[in-house]
Amino acid sequence: MQQLIIDLDHTLLDTTAFKLDLAKSLGLTSNEWADSYNRYVQDNNVFDARDFLQGVDTSDQKKFYQVISQISKYLYPDSTQFLKQTLKDGWEVLILTFGSESWQEMKIDNMNFPNGVKTLAVSKEKISVVKNYVKEQTVFIDDRSIEIDAVKKSFPEIKAYWMRRENGKYRDIQPTLHDKIISNLNIEL
Ligand SMILES: [Mg+2]
Repeated sequence: MQQLIIDLDHTLLDTTAFKLDLAKSLGLTSNEWADSYNRYVQDNNVFDARDFLQGVDTSDQKKFYQVISQISKYLYPDSTQFLKQTLKDGWEVLILTFGSESWQEMKIDNMNFPNGVKTLAVSKEKISVVKNYVKEQTVFIDDRSIEIDAVKKSFPEIKAYWMRRENGKYRDIQPTLHDKIISNLNIEL
């Protein structure tokens, strides 16, 4: 069996553009959004959009949720085709995303992924669940070096591709154990 484990943020999803539009919907700059998001997570451990938006104008809330409902348009142009082709080639596909579970699930619930794709949101390191999905042939694609190195350390047999999207947040923090560097999903596994 063949298993693809692929990341969402900055890998399949143009999270930079998505966050910019989320920020705009609340009249914030991208940095202001990041600051208030981080402060909220620090105080509450997890991000809960409904709670976060308490006290925000109803019209702004509406705009915020509208951006989320259109999250699929922030997928990189090569993402859907890649997922479809990989499924067609007989691979199991798991989109594994890290972050506050309720927030990640809200994003996933609003996304149109091809049928057959599985999704999982975790609020701890990905390595804690990767072991449940390792098959004879496994490819792991992620933009974060910390995840790549953790996976390769525990499972050297997994092929790990480091994703460096042109506007990716972590594109300059290089892993040490990756097998390959890619900058888009115009690839064949
Ligand atoms: Mg990512």
